[in-house]
Amino acid sequence: MKKFFNTLSRRDLLNDTMDLLKMFGVKPFKRFSQNFIVDPDAIKIFLENISESDIVLEIGAGLGTLTKFIASKAKKVTAIEIDYRLIPILNMVLEEYNNVEIINMDFLKLKPINIDKIVSNIPYNISSLIIEKIVKEYKFSKAILGLQKEFGLRMAAEPGSKDYSRLTVLAQFYCRIDILRTLPPKSFYPEPEVDSIILSLTPLKKYDLDVPEEFFFKIVSILFMFRRKMLRKVLKHYLPKHIKKYSYGKLIESMDSNILYKRIYMLSIPELVDIAEKIWMNLNDRNIFK
Ligand code: SAH
Repeated sequence: MKKFFNTLSRRDLLNDTMDLLKMFGVKPFKRFSQNFIVDPDAIKIFLENISESDIVLEIGAGLGTLTKFIASKAKKVTAIEIDYRLIPILNMVLEEYNNVEIINMDFLKLKPINIDKIVSNIPYNISSLIIEKIVKEYKFSKAILGLQKEFGLRMAAEPGSKDYSRLTVLAQFYCRIDILRTLPPKSFYPEPEVDSIILSLTPLKKYDLDVPEEFFFKIVSILFMFRRKMLRKVLKHYLPKHIKKYSYGKLIESMDSNILYKRIYMLSIPELVDIAEKIWMNLNDRNIFK
């Protein structure tokens, strides 16, 4: 029987991808962001950090291209794929590997499992939800993720830049983000409309938060609704619309004036933590949500 994805050559990857789709009569779904990797150099980057003792999670296994290369390097791969049409393909492509577990499920509904690393080219339409889930619920030593470029740049952004956003704070509160490579549309079949990017996420030592994490992220979400406005103004005029009963006067007094005159998108994560803690201290009622 023909073996698929046996070499790291672009021609073979592309031919095998098209052959498999044809053999199984599968037309890629846009709504599942089905763009399959056919770029050998990109695959090499995904594989770089894997060692033979690693248990690896792959979210959105597709046709098993990356899965197969991961399986030949790692101790075990748990591959999650939502589309039942691809399961017979995965079973065939990965037949000779006894260290692969294929789970036909929506990753967003999966309970956290024990893994060492995450290596995935993740579905672009639910990237935000996946990032939130892995940084909050999973323990891992490294995640190598393929994402839409624009989205990845927001994760990696610095305070004061146009890409700095709620997503940046969410990602960088938990992880150091490094950009490994950008990928053109032709790294995939079918080609997506946008460029992609490969990022590495390395978990950081946990922040010593004096407020519930949920409160911190709530405040960050509210502040970033007004990202171009000055903090002082936001605290005075806009925040009260979203949370109730805090002493504005005391809050302002407790804060450094140079922070108060910064615009929201210029605030670093430690500054945002400090702001959330001071708001919390000046709440009259901790049952805050309106
Ligand atoms: N990793 C493969 C496929 C990338 S395309 C490759 O690089 O070739 C993204 C894959 O994620 C598709 O196979 C799609 O069906 C799957 N997917 C989309 N939403 C998903 C979800 N909620 N849970 C699990 N898999 C999902």
